[in-house]
Amino acid sequence: MSIDKNTTLFSRAQQSIPGGVNSPVRAFKSVGGTPVFFEKAKGAYLYDVQGQQYIDYIASWGPMILGHGYEPVVKAIQQQVEKATSFGAPTELEIEMAELIKSMVPNVDLIRMVNSGTEACMSALRVARGYTGRNKFIKFEGCYHGHADPFLVKAGSGVATFNIQTVPGVTAGAASDTLTCAYNDLDAVEKLATDNKGEIAAIIVEPVAGNMGCILPKPGFLEGLRRICDEEGMVLIFDEVMNGFRLALGGAQERLGIDADLVTYGKVIGAGMPVGAFGGKKQIMEVVAPLGNVYQAGTLSGNPVAMIAGLTLLKALKATPELLMELDDKTQYLKDGLEEVLKAWGQPYVINHFGSMLSIHFSNQPVIDFATAAASDTVLFKKFFHALLKRGIYLPPSAFESWFLNNALTVDDLDKTIRAVKESLEEISK
Ligand code: PLP
Repeated sequence: MSIDKNTTLFSRAQQSIPGGVNSPVRAFKSVGGTPVFFEKAKGAYLYDVQGQQYIDYIASWGPMILGHGYEPVVKAIQQQVEKATSFGAPTELEIEMAELIKSMVPNVDLIRMVNSGTEACMSALRVARGYTGRNKFIKFEGCYHGHADPFLVKAGSGVATFNIQTVPGVTAGAASDTLTCAYNDLDAVEKLATDNKGEIAAIIVEPVAGNMGCILPKPGFLEGLRRICDEEGMVLIFDEVMNGFRLALGGAQERLGIDADLVTYGKVIGAGMPVGAFGGKKQIMEVVAPLGNVYQAGTLSGNPVAMIAGLTLLKALKATPELLMELDDKTQYLKDGLEEVLKAWGQPYVINHFGSMLSIHFSNQPVIDFATAAASDTVLFKKFFHALLKRGIYLPPSAFESWFLNNALTVDDLDKTIRAVKESLEEISK
């Protein structure tokens, strides 16, 4: 495979875009080499600027649950664009979106649209602070809640990928109210709650973490967070930017049977268009302006093109709940196949998998939090990544990201992937 055009584009991009990319993980810095520049995508496949096809395991970091270029979404966008692309004024589409989400996530009473997952989490935190009158909050090492200042303390995703310990530009003041502890460590949460009694507004958590690879909550962990929040008068925020409408129609809340106070969504509810949302219980959400004084706004929020795209995807998922089950089955099939070839390979590995999220860590211990994810062999992951890329399999370019499956993947694609993994493992062991 020639990489000439990608190399040329990357050099050109670096002349005018910081690092050549508009989001850091895309730069391939942690896996090395030249990022692939894409031109089109259809179903389970991506096509780069040289026409090379890849089987996609990123799904635009989550939203392409039914594959790229899902016809009903494409048609709905085309029709909406003919009518209007933005009003900056209310539309019926926004009501439909709010009503649809409420019908799928029963504990959401009120929901506000924003433009990204970052905005959703930032706004949910402000609401929790405004509601409780407290400043501090707890987040978990390796969880990523977007790039707003308070969340960049011990964050996952690109912050972990690039091993950035302290993000310059985040003031000590902004960081000082962020309390952190290890994911899955309920004792540490109890201790933070005791040491900061009456001062903590919220706990924010990715119920199934996807930003340090895929990491599952231990039994009792999320239940424990719920209990501590109840005991201490804190707001429990589930960041379902990755989990929502993927793990179940009602997201992680439904799948894991936990009732959060606030929930945040992102890319999925725009079917790949730039969207986010935060919502939850009425008595908390009523503090949001213009009902209350917790100010939050957005010129493009509830954008009609993004709304119609997301509505069309969510309606399809709701109308055919078997789709998510099919997707889970495909992920299980892939997991079983990977398990077989990794076992035969004979070196340490861990596959974490939940629903249609999955990741492989080269590790000889269970990967249950950021420390264990970071202790895995990331050098081997780099080789693995490139060996697969060469074989037309596009994985997230970091060991600290989950893979996301899409339902356009066929059994043949999954078999090809398993074979490519087998060959790649043989190649990197040489
Ligand atoms: N929360 C989680 C769990 C995420 O995975 C992400 C992004 O990947 C965000 C928040 C931020 O979303 P965005 O990149 O749309 O700002």
